[in-house]
Amino acid sequence: MEGRSGGMGEGRGREAGGGAEWELVRESESAVAVEAVMSVQVVSAAAAAKVPEVELKDLSPSEAEPQLGLSAAAVGAMVPPAGGGDPEAPAPAPAAERPPAPGPGSGPTVALSPAAGKVPQASAMKRSDPHHQHQRHRDGGEALVSPDGTVTEAPRTVKKIQFADQKQEFNKRPTKIGRRSLSRSISQSSTDSYSSAASYTDSSDDETSPRDKQQKNSKGSSDFCVKNIKQAEFGRREIEIAEQEMPALMALRKRAQGEKPLAGAKIVGCTHITAQTAVLMETLGALGAQCRWAACNIYSTLNEVAAALAESGFPVFAWKGESEDDFWWCIDRCVNVEGWQPNMILDDGGDLTHWIYKKYPNMFKKIKGIVEESVTGVHRLYQLSKAGKLCVPAMNVNDSVTKQKFDNLYCCRESILDGLKRTTDMMFGGKQVVVCGYGEVGKGCCAALKAMGSIVYVTEIDPICALQACMDGFRLVKLNEVIRQVDIVITCTGNKNVVTREHLDRMKNSCIVCNMGHSNTEIDVASLRTPELTWERVRSQVDHVIWPDGKRIVLLAEGRLLNLSCSTVPTFVLSITATTQALALIELYNAPEGRYKQDVYLLPKKMDEYVASLHLPTFDAHLTELTDEQAKYLGLNKNGPFKPNYYRY
Ligand code: NAD
Repeated sequence: MEGRSGGMGEGRGREAGGGAEWELVRESESAVAVEAVMSVQVVSAAAAAKVPEVELKDLSPSEAEPQLGLSAAAVGAMVPPAGGGDPEAPAPAPAAERPPAPGPGSGPTVALSPAAGKVPQASAMKRSDPHHQHQRHRDGGEALVSPDGTVTEAPRTVKKIQFADQKQEFNKRPTKIGRRSLSRSISQSSTDSYSSAASYTDSSDDETSPRDKQQKNSKGSSDFCVKNIKQAEFGRREIEIAEQEMPALMALRKRAQGEKPLAGAKIVGCTHITAQTAVLMETLGALGAQCRWAACNIYSTLNEVAAALAESGFPVFAWKGESEDDFWWCIDRCVNVEGWQPNMILDDGGDLTHWIYKKYPNMFKKIKGIVEESVTGVHRLYQLSKAGKLCVPAMNVNDSVTKQKFDNLYCCRESILDGLKRTTDMMFGGKQVVVCGYGEVGKGCCAALKAMGSIVYVTEIDPICALQACMDGFRLVKLNEVIRQVDIVITCTGNKNVVTREHLDRMKNSCIVCNMGHSNTEIDVASLRTPELTWERVRSQVDHVIWPDGKRIVLLAEGRLLNLSCSTVPTFVLSITATTQALALIELYNAPEGRYKQDVYLLPKKMDEYVASLHLPTFDAHLTELTDEQAKYLGLNKNGPFKPNYYRY
């Protein structure tokens, strides 16, 4: 995992050849004739303030590029570009180590923006356990003057605290040792994005493995495997709540009443199974697709949501707390079906893709494309492509602007405080916080903490991000300089061993340590598993690690992503990512032969713009339309794309 995350970040974060790569991309763009399969239009200007109406229509293959453009008439109103051709041409989205985009004639609209080189993370379709929201824990302690003169709260006596609901939680999950051994053996991506996803109904008394149960939905189908089909009603409520905050998918669904751009699509999916995913799946169904689904994470499935999906006829194979064997069994049940073969893959982490490669390589003869959302999965795809083993086109959704610039920044800005608050009940005003890494995630965390009155320090290795931090008003420091005085340490680098045992040794009593990066490698948690340190689980996802002198640090989510493990993430942000996934599936499924080769592509920028425009009506936002004169002056098509691929936003 470290290798994967680090490698990706490094690779795609650099602009190869000091900008030469951009030139190559632009040359290839202008030379490529792009064919279009479908257009996506929002036609109702008046409806802009509500859910826009979306029109999906087939175009002749000679019409240029996915016809996505903004009409000036109103927010979200989209018309096909008058001039037809989109200057963007589809070139595979290059990883740093790969050669630049292929030359002319290679297909449609995608070229790598340098901004795409960061290390974003798989979207987080999870929520936390509401049972834990109301837990309260108070630290009592006396003032203590440490050798360096710092006054800290005196450590409390080590005593085991057992909360009633905590006990329940632990009983229904594997033991710590069991979990660790699972984590070692199971695919990294399925555990890295660990989640404490909620269960709305208590099924802790039901220890029977779903694999051993005979269940049927109300229509008599037993083509699913979930914890308890009787929980469907609870899940349906959750899905309905999520729908309120996923306007673009609902707009696509409305539009699909007339046309079915995914008619005939047989999508096998492997993602977090949450209410937001359910909205995506039901939208894909409304667009004409048949879906079979497994979970990409052994802990993140919301059992009730899985039940609701199964009840409404989706073959879902997932439950919270799967074993490794269950995990692969569920994936296999999605793929290995009599009389049904997938022709599209939607993956989050690459495990499903890997399974099909390993077990059923012949299936790729019928598969039209892979849509991959996570940094890990995308990295695997680039590896396959580099080795010449990628046998179908793949869309890298992870590096879409509408994923990276929204999920990473806004999701973290909204959820960092939530994660900290739920686990520690802390007050942020006046607290000293150090945030390691000032990329999208770090920027979000810093902004939120600053707004709450915290004193925020930043560490960075990149002078550009460092300068941004300075100009945003944060003190740039080395971690060593502040480690003794800070109240909270947050890692957001996508790197490894950013917080070492030495740092942990020097932290003051009660310092909170957590990670917002993708994998659990940023904090050297393993170094804390030594005999002289005592671990005390004080709440779900909260450990006190206690030194022999009584000092304790508060480690959250065992160094895994804090927000995904301990809080909810905003549905609206997930809506943006899910819409991007849906459009990527539509694009790949409908692309004419030859548009996409066996390579990894970014979504065309116009589609990114379209995803954004579908979310504008929520804010009653009014987009300005270019005049003809202005469009000419800027050299733009009035309907977009409005920025070159290398634009950074
Ligand atoms: P980014 O590349 O934009 O930012 C990471 C920053 O960390 C870079 O500026 C880099 O220079 C800096 N950095 C690297 N090593 C460092 C070190 N040793 N010390 C200090 N700074 C260092 O990436 P991002 O989009 O901000 O994502 C960061 C991580 O968060 C990734 O692992 C990503 O997968 C994950 N992520 C998490 C969530 C979430 O919901 N928690 C959402 C999106 C992404």
